[in-house]
Amino acid sequence: MNSWENNLIKIDPYVPGEQPSVPGQIKLNTNENPYPPAPGVERALKEFNADDLRLYPAISAEPIVEALSKVYGIEEDRIFVGVGSDDVLATAFRALFNSDKPVIFPDITYSFYDVWAKLFGVPFRQIPLDEDFRMHREDYVCENGGVVICNPNAPTSIAEPLEFVEYIVKNNRDSVVVVDEAYVDFGAETAFPLLEKYENLLIVQTFSKSRSLAGLRVGYAFGSRRLIRALNDVKNSYNSYTINRLSAAVGPFAVLDTGYLKECC
Ligand SMILES: *Cc1c(COP(=O)(O)O)cnc(C)c1O
Repeated sequence: MNSWENNLIKIDPYVPGEQPSVPGQIKLNTNENPYPPAPGVERALKEFNADDLRLYPAISAEPIVEALSKVYGIEEDRIFVGVGSDDVLATAFRALFNSDKPVIFPDITYSFYDVWAKLFGVPFRQIPLDEDFRMHREDYVCENGGVVICNPNAPTSIAEPLEFVEYIVKNNRDSVVVVDEAYVDFGAETAFPLLEKYENLLIVQTFSKSRSLAGLRVGYAFGSRRLIRALNDVKNSYNSYTINRLSAAVGPFAVLDTGYLKECC
């Protein structure tokens, strides 16, 4: 091995779902949505002016932030937008988990969490699900440097009610609790009402599943101003312009058409 090779990162990366290109194949493995995105998205794409791409985009995806603020009824400075929720979650690991204590999450859950922990040098501990693949909320009350739960969990699909999430947030006042709600629109209870009460809660959602826009790469988080500021501080320390102009131009239409979202779900 050449000595420079010793300086290269050694990490087992997350392996994304296979993307075969066989025409006509019905593909279920990465939970993409079979319905097209909201009609306004296609319209905005057709009206998009290529000349606009000469210019850098808005720094914090303002058009998407404004649309989310309007639809969800939350202040713009409590919203963070990233390149898919993978980017939002990775940014959260870097920005919010800087303790010597381990971050905790289930042993069977979205398999990117332990990869980010290793990438960023965040200590972590995986808590076993029971034999029915369920979390026990008491298991998440212990010394920790942060908590991540996915609700509904993936790949189990099991959703826990709001009281379950509140118990974990309430009993972890000294940690940030991240709730990955990638699938929440399909019928689970969102932790959104808890945002008024708890400043240590970050809710992460995505355009990729319920809004049929996995290819656009847009995800977002709701949280207290302090948490959103930390996420922006990390983002602005590696790449200021994460959301490109095309995503910023069409993304709002996926948010504003709430009727279409509901119908698809
Ligand atoms: C799909 C998925 C994500 C990330 O999706 P993005 O396309 O990056 O928004 C995050 N968490 C879970 C549980 C998912 O299934």
